[in-house]
Amino acid sequence: MIQQVLFIITLAVFGFFIRKRVLRIRDNIRLGKDTGGIDRKSERFKNVLLIAFGQKKMFKRFIPAVLHLFIYLGFLIINLEVLEFMIDGVAGTHRIFAPYLGSGYTVLMNLFEFLAVAVLLACIFFLIRRNVLKLPRFWSAEMTSWPRLDANLILITEIVLMLAILTMNAADQLLQLRDEHYTATGSLFFSAFLIPVFQNMETSVLILVERFAWWFHIVGILGFAVYITYSKHLHIFMAFPNTFYAKLEPKGHINNMPVVTNEVKAMLGLAQVAPPSGEPGRFGAKDVNDLSRTNLIAAYACTECGRCTSECPANLTGKKLSPRKIMMDTRDRVEEVGRSLEKGGAGLNDGKSLLGDYISKEEINACTSCNACVEACPVLINPLEIILELRRYVAMEESGSPASWNAMFQNIETNFAPWKFSAADRFNWANDV
Ligand code: SF4
Ligand code: SF4
Repeated sequence: MIQQVLFIITLAVFGFFIRKRVLRIRDNIRLGKDTGGIDRKSERFKNVLLIAFGQKKMFKRFIPAVLHLFIYLGFLIINLEVLEFMIDGVAGTHRIFAPYLGSGYTVLMNLFEFLAVAVLLACIFFLIRRNVLKLPRFWSAEMTSWPRLDANLILITEIVLMLAILTMNAADQLLQLRDEHYTATGSLFFSAFLIPVFQNMETSVLILVERFAWWFHIVGILGFAVYITYSKHLHIFMAFPNTFYAKLEPKGHINNMPVVTNEVKAMLGLAQVAPPSGEPGRFGAKDVNDLSRTNLIAAYACTECGRCTSECPANLTGKKLSPRKIMMDTRDRVEEVGRSLEKGGAGLNDGKSLLGDYISKEEINACTSCNACVEACPVLINPLEIILELRRYVAMEESGSPASWNAMFQNIETNFAPWKFSAADRFNWANDV
């Protein structure tokens, strides 16, 4: 009974913190612009199934993809066991599904154990790849101490949680032999390797070990659920809405600005433009509230894998730009604004902005708009969209583009081409042909 009460209190406390963070993230995303209704829903659901559920884009790099798949399946399938933990915790039962599933329970437990071992090995491999082999994309400039620590903490936590499952099952198997009150699970292959570690223990100690591992696992999972809302690991949830809302147009398509299009049409006598009404909006984006909600969802969905940066020609040629940093900065800024609003602070009016305080003009000016980052991203994130919006702000609101660009803008406006020739002279070269 005491355990049940303790469990319900634990659930309530963690539930409170998880709910608080979920609502905060929702409100943070709502700081962005609502870009209206969602079209082509069947294509979007297909993207969710193929890219988020199916991990399709991950398989461009086979070995990490297979290991990542184990972690992902472990997350999805082992959570079924967590459901049993929850019911047992609240109802005061032990392995409540076992009598209903019979031998199917043994099969299921062995599957969970196989996945636990696979997750464990995959995490060890990823830790070695990050910290011993020092894969360059995990050590570039934006991967400061916190993102590196975050990634390591996630991997270590997953290893420890998997060890807790195996320890619990090993102790439980011994208890089944010593006490008939323990529900029979059948033989469990992987945890059986740990049995020699525990078999000389007193039954009372064994009970303690089993209970400790049970509590450790469930409290660990609940704590992890709170932690990931602050971490890059949030991508395990945010990848789904992100792939749903991702842009469906061809990669080269750049969103027009309807106000500008209308003005140009009016200038060319192609359309009647109604006189402007209300507050004039901002051209492009200076801060997170000028970006779309889709951009902000993408910032939360970024797993900081650096595949985008490792393909970015600007980054590869030593420029300051990193598309991963663009996403990390967007997320950091929206979190900063959210924290401030939560405390009743100035929020967006804190004198800071995404452009300038987080992302510099030097970074956005280095982008070639090549879309390599968009192509590389395994969860359909589009850093280029944010870069273009920031550049639009610099060009149109601050006239702050480099002088050579301004000359080109001027030429396009007057000559309809980036060069200095008038439209009439542009084909002079053909006279001598
Ligand atoms: S679009 Fe820009 S940020 Fe993306 S890869 Fe190309 S140069 Fe880099
Ligand atoms: S934007 Fe995509 S490719 Fe780039 S770091 Fe984030 S998840 Fe990885």
